[in-house]
Amino acid sequence: MYRVNAWEQYDESGRTQLERFASDYKAWLNSAKTEREAAAASEKLCRERGFADLDELIRSGTVLKPGDRVFCKWMDKCVMAFVIGSEPLARGMRILGAHIDSPRVDVKQNPLYEDEGIGYLDTHYYGGIKKYLWAATPLALHGVVIRKDGSRLDLAVGEKDDDPVFCFSDLLIHLSGELMAKPARDVVPGESLNLIVGSVPLKGEEKDAVKAGLLQLLKERYALEEEDFLSAELEIVPAGRARDLGLDRGMILGYGHDDRVCAYPSLRAVADYEGTPERTLCAVLTDKEEIGSVGATGMDSNYFENTVAELLNACGEPGSLALRRCLRNSAMLSSDVSAGFDPNFASSFEKKNTAILGRGVCFNKFTGRGGKSGSSDANPEFIARLRGIMDEAGVAWQSGEIGRVDAGGGGTIAYMCAKYGMDVIDCGVPVLSMHSLYEVASKADLWEAYRGYRAFLEKA
Ligand code: MN
Ligand code: MN
Repeated sequence: MYRVNAWEQYDESGRTQLERFASDYKAWLNSAKTEREAAAASEKLCRERGFADLDELIRSGTVLKPGDRVFCKWMDKCVMAFVIGSEPLARGMRILGAHIDSPRVDVKQNPLYEDEGIGYLDTHYYGGIKKYLWAATPLALHGVVIRKDGSRLDLAVGEKDDDPVFCFSDLLIHLSGELMAKPARDVVPGESLNLIVGSVPLKGEEKDAVKAGLLQLLKERYALEEEDFLSAELEIVPAGRARDLGLDRGMILGYGHDDRVCAYPSLRAVADYEGTPERTLCAVLTDKEEIGSVGATGMDSNYFENTVAELLNACGEPGSLALRRCLRNSAMLSSDVSAGFDPNFASSFEKKNTAILGRGVCFNKFTGRGGKSGSSDANPEFIARLRGIMDEAGVAWQSGEIGRVDAGGGGTIAYMCAKYGMDVIDCGVPVLSMHSLYEVASKADLWEAYRGYRAFLEKA
């Protein structure tokens, strides 16, 4: 059962290819700090690789044929890319599915206020975070504001070298005696995450002069009124770019590896495919996984099924039976990150069933918590097929669980796709510090994920 460290297997050209892929990933990740930005960056990648907009093709009545490359964006937060196969779609697709939302802190709808000369935005966090980690660290503000007239402002402040940044304050250690005795979850209560955004009063203003100054600035610079916050989605994320980690540069430290470190190689595996596959290939990058895949852009919505129905129709295979067959006959890698073994917190893991950084892409037969609850448990028949495919392609891969039994757990989009009856298993890059401000991923595991995803598309 021993797995060799993937780095041991690379020759010089392998190292070069890995480095190039890792630097492509970092550039994509830096431009993709929110789900909308990740969707836009993915659309750009698709267009550069000759993928056509499915919605436009449908409007023009184009009939799709084998070898065609199409993409579809959903509500600017999800992206699907397809390469049409030579077999009928009803025989099933080969699907790579990842999510492009990450834990973060969202701005409330009525957020702006001042208190004793400091201007704040009130927030409500999104996804599973340790709130105390977000204090006293530089933060950036990303998102969109839709004004009442429908015009739209895209915002990203805090990323350029000369941009201002924002922060949540932390209580000084000198006065933290009581605080330090509290359970970690109570150290910074959610309602205390108030983002510092200003401090200069508007001259001549008697009451709430700092807030007045900020409102004037928003009006002059962005043509925004205070009420425009009502129709905004502003997300607070760690400021700055992903960096190489370690003297030997073998890892990447970055915000949002979960799950963009799987989304990027998934999309690339489909986009890099040349020629006409037998089965249709699909990459689906989805939103809202971190809060249970709910809502119109989550995997539990019907948007994916609807898009596949449109695709079938455009391929000349209309009808609900064809749709049922297509989904049932599909096979999928739910490409989501796994917990990498952390020697500093060894007791939370069971070492021989945990992914080790650098030993390749990790298959999780199941996820869930408390006796596998909430999981999709992949069939051994499917796993056996994948073992053959991965070994034949020389992919470094490993098998793991998210942690020690009853230590906690987690979920992915796998079970929502499994409800169609398709074969699906979680397969992704192991990370350290999952859901922290900056997560750690090995470049070797990223590269092996890409190689594994390609092998799956070509051979499954
Ligand atoms: Mn995830
Ligand atoms: Mn997550």
